[in-house]
This record gives sequence, C-alpha cells and structure tokens, in this order.
Amino acid sequence: MRKPKIVILGAGYGGLLTTVRLQKLIGVNEADIVLVNKNDYHYETTWLHEASAGTLHHDKVRYDIRDVIDRSKVDFVQDTVVEINKDEKKVILEKGEVDYDYLVIALGGEPETFGIKGLKEYAFGITNVNSARQLREHIEYQFATYNMEEEKNDNRLSIVVGGAGFTGIEFLGELTNRIPELCHEYDVDFHKVKIYCVEAAPTVLPGFDPELVNYAVSTLERKGVEFLIGTAIKEAVPGGILVAKGDAEPYEIKSETVVWAAGVRGNSVIEKSGFEAMRGRVKVQPDLRVPGFDNVFIIGDSSLVINEEINRPYPPTAQIAMQQGEVVAKNIAALVRNKSELETFTFDNKGTVCSLGEDDAIGVVFGKKITGGKASFMKKVVDNRALYMIGGAGMVLKKGKFNLF
Ligand code: FAD
Repeated sequence: MRKPKIVILGAGYGGLLTTVRLQKLIGVNEADIVLVNKNDYHYETTWLHEASAGTLHHDKVRYDIRDVIDRSKVDFVQDTVVEINKDEKKVILEKGEVDYDYLVIALGGEPETFGIKGLKEYAFGITNVNSARQLREHIEYQFATYNMEEEKNDNRLSIVVGGAGFTGIEFLGELTNRIPELCHEYDVDFHKVKIYCVEAAPTVLPGFDPELVNYAVSTLERKGVEFLIGTAIKEAVPGGILVAKGDAEPYEIKSETVVWAAGVRGNSVIEKSGFEAMRGRVKVQPDLRVPGFDNVFIIGDSSLVINEEINRPYPPTAQIAMQQGEVVAKNIAALVRNKSELETFTFDNKGTVCSLGEDDAIGVVFGKKITGGKASFMKKVVDNRALYMIGGAGMVLKKGKFNLF
C-alpha cells in the first residue's frame, strides 16, 4: 500500500516543531515526511532584533535544520515555495514541485506596511537573517562614514523606528546598548545621535500593563529614545519620513535609517494560492485545518485564531506557533492512523516578556508582573526553552543564552 505523504512548509517555530514531533510520533512505515524551507537553517525570529542591532552575531540566532531532524524519517528539501495547488494537492517550488496527502503551511509572516507609500522601498525590516545582517551593516556604515565626510551629514546619526509594539521596543532596547559602542568605535559624539520611535496608536506596547509600559518608556527615554506617540508615518522618502500627529500637517524627520517594525501579515503564498484570508492570515478551524480542506493545516503567523474572551485574534507569536505545532503533529498522526477524532487547539498563555536590552526587560509571567534583571533572566529562560523544545539539551548547550545574571 502507498504510504501517505506529509509535507511541512517552513522550518520556523511552528514548522520545525511539527516536524520533530512527527518524526517521534510516526513510524517510517506509516508515512513519508517532507520538510521544505527556503534556507538550510532555522533562525530564531524572536532574536532577530539583537542581530539587527548588532548586539548578537547572526550565526548565534540560527542553526542547521539537519542538526535537529531525523534524516532517516524526514526528507529535507531546500527550496522556496511559490504557490500551493490545492486541487491537485501539489506545492509549486522555485526548483520543482512536491505533492502531498497532508499539508502543514508554516511559512510565517511578512511585514504589513498598510499601504504607506515608500516603506517598501526606503525602510528596513526585521524579518530574517538577511534583513538583520543588512540593517546591522547599514547602521555601522553610517557611523563609519560620518567622520569621513568634510560636510558632516547628521542624518547618518538619526535612526527612526516605526512602531512601538513588541518588535520595535525590543529593537530599541538593543539599539540603545549598541549606540554607545558605535560612538566609541567611530569617535562620534553620542549627543549627536538621534533615535525616534514613531507610533500611530495612543500608547506604546498596546495591550501591555500600563505600569510596565511606563517602565519601558522611561528606561528607553533615559537611554536617548524620543517617543512620538499618536503620530503616524505618512510616507517614507529618500533620506527620511513624513509624519503627522492626528490631522495636523505632515512634517519631515530626516534620517538615513528608517526601520519598519509595525505590523505582520500572513505569508504572501497564502493569498497567491487562493486561500480565503484576512491580511494574509487564514481563520483556521479549532483543529487547525483550513475550512473546506480536510488535509491542509495552517499554523503560526499565517493562521488566525480568535481569542474568545475578547473576540479578537491573538497576536501572532512564537509561543502560539509552537503550541499549534504540537497539536498539528498529533492530529496528523491521528489522520494517518484513520482516526477521525482530532485535538482542538487552545492557547495556553504562559506569559510575555519584552526585552529592553541585554540586562533589562518587562513582563508578565504566570500572572505576575516583573521588571529589570528578573524579567531579563526570564527572557533568556524563554529563549532557551524554544531551543530545547525543538533541538533538545544539545541545542541549548550549542546556542543557548547563559549570561543569565
Ligand atoms: P517563522 O518562525 O517566522 O518561520 C517561517 C519559516 O518559513 C522561516 O524559516 C522562513 O525562512 C520560511 N519561509 C518563509 N517563506 C518561505 C517560502 N516561500 N518558501 C520556503 N520557506 C519559506 N513571539 C513570541 O512569542 N515571543 C517573543 O518574545 C517574540 N519576539 C519577537 C521579536 C522580533 C524581533 C520579531 C520579529 C518577532 C517576535 N515574536 C515573538 C513573534 C514570533 O517571532 C513569530 O510569531 C514566530 O516566528 C512565528 O512563527 P512561524 O512558525 O509562523 O514562522
């Protein structure tokens, strides 16, 4: 009898966790497992703000996928997914195609620019290892060039971060640690450096406890960040951005470095493949399958799960992606064994910690508010836990964060 073929797209938090769980749950004779990913490495998306600011080398945030998969059970294909042909149960890749009986789409998200003109062309993103390397190099280049020019261009020392959500704040935390180092290295006066955080919403870190938000804002302000809250980016132009508070006239902030960190949408493959989606995210069934497609699961940033308590979607997080991965692995094992009872996904919120640099953070863990060194310690525990869940103790020893105090 022909073995069913399980194809997993994306080796991020959701996809790789599904793979390592499936390789334990499923016997070689029960099904073929294929994992497709653009790169031959997995990266810790939740650490990209560090690689982007230059406080952590990009090799520390990634590891070889082959180090965590069981190659006798999983066939790894390094390729880019172009489109999914649902009718023919086929995935079109850049260099070929792969057919499936069961499909897990775990391709992560993409930056949402809300149609703001110029952002795609002129702003940097914090999205993957390539973008992190480029941003780190770009910032360093601005500092290295500043004293080379006869006519000093102060815009080289002006950095704008669009978005005061999780990604923006974590990046600012790292950046404010990195800037003094760059000033020292390139003989640049620290007082000449300008760091702006522009946020259209009326508050920093919407949804976070106000006391913790105040802690984060005052910490970052002390380190030189100027917050422009309730201020929208209207357009990105070469050498700066146009912003406006409410209905007021837009004005320009000059900057050679604009970083867009204000929103995530689902992977463009989703809409290209004709799935019904909201901002590229598919509202999945409780068992994480796509309505109308009993053999297709979507997890992670490309899925949309409603928080029934507030009747709004959960924000996309690694925590959710990994918990979904656990459920999908069990559900696919059940389907392979012809069981029709599938597990329902319920998000178990273990808490959230937002880092403010190397040794500072804010968070709510098991319902308790924490700040400073304690929160920073918890952040590293959370980071190491993600490594452990996918790669076991060996991966923690290899890539873990041990500067816990
Ligand atoms: P990802 O982990 O992003 O993985 C997607 C994978 O798919 C990648 O390997 C990618 O290379 C691959 N891929 C994409 N497109 C293609 C294609 N066309 N073909 C082949 N492969 C493809 N969440 C938290 O829970 N806690 C945090 O503290 C936190 N901090 C964050 C900090 C930053 C700076 C950022 C950017 C995000 C943070 N998040 C955090 C959010 C979290 O990182 C995401 O929600 C999570 O990565 C989503 O997991 P995923 O499996 O959906 O996708």
